[in-house]
Amino acid sequence: MPSQPALLSATDLHKVYGSTPALDGADFAITPGEIVAVMGPSGSGKSTLLHCLAGIVSPDSGTVRYADHDLTAMNDVGRSALRRTDFGFVFQFGQLVPELTCVQNVALPLRLNGVKRKEAERTAQEWMDRLEVAELGHKRPGEVSGGQGQRVAIARSLVTGPRVLFADEPTGALDSLNGERVMELFTEAARSTDAAVVLVTHEARVAAYSDREVVVRDGKSRDRFAQYAA
Ligand code: ADP
Repeated sequence: MPSQPALLSATDLHKVYGSTPALDGADFAITPGEIVAVMGPSGSGKSTLLHCLAGIVSPDSGTVRYADHDLTAMNDVGRSALRRTDFGFVFQFGQLVPELTCVQNVALPLRLNGVKRKEAERTAQEWMDRLEVAELGHKRPGEVSGGQGQRVAIARSLVTGPRVLFADEPTGALDSLNGERVMELFTEAARSTDAAVVLVTHEARVAAYSDREVVVRDGKSRDRFAQYAA
C-alpha cells in the first residue's frame, strides 16, 4: 500500500444490483501523482468501483473519502460540484459532443465552471497542443479518427486541472499502435500535473503504464502483489 496519505480511498464497499453483487467488500487507496491500474475480468466490478470512487454511484455500504470529504455522506449536488472541479474523466469512446468543434469540446468543462469563452478556448488549445491534436481544433468529432478523438477527450479531461483522473478502458476502442501512443501521451500529461489516475483496464499492456495494479475479482479488490502472496 502507498506510504503517503491517500488522496482518494474506499473502505469495504458493497453494492448489489438486484440480486447481482457488483462489489463485495472492495477497498482502494491512491496518492497524488500515482497511476493505479484496476484490473480483472469482465463483470468483476471494476467499473462499479470506479463509479463509486468518482461519486457517480452510491455504494450500499462502505465509505469513499476524497481529501477532506466523505463522498458517501455528501448529497448529489455536492458530489457533482466536486466532480466538475476536482475530477476528470476519460471513457472508452471519447463521448465528445458531436455538434461542437474539438476545441469547444475541450473547453466545455471550463465553460461549465464559468470561465469566459476566449480564455477557456485558449487553455483548451494548449492542452490540444500537448496531446498532439493542435490542428484539429475546428473539426467536429465525426471528422477525426478514433485515436485523435481519444486525444481530444484526454485534453478535455485535463483542462480543469483535476486532482484525480478516472479512465475506464481509455484505449479499448483503439488498435495497439494508437493505444500505446494515447497511453504515453495520457500518462505523460497526467504526471506533469501530479494528478492521481485511476485506470480501469483488462489489458496488461495498458496496465504496464501504471505504478501499481489492483485486481478486482468477484467484487473484491486486492493489490496485485498481495494476490500472489495469498
Ligand atoms: P466490470 O467493469 O469489471 O466489467 P461492472 O462493475 O461493470 O464490472 O459489473 C459488475 C457486476 O455488476 C456485473 O455482474 C454487472 O452485470 C453488474 N452491474 C453493473 N452495473 C449494473 C447496473 N447498472 N445494473 C445492473 N447490474 C449492473
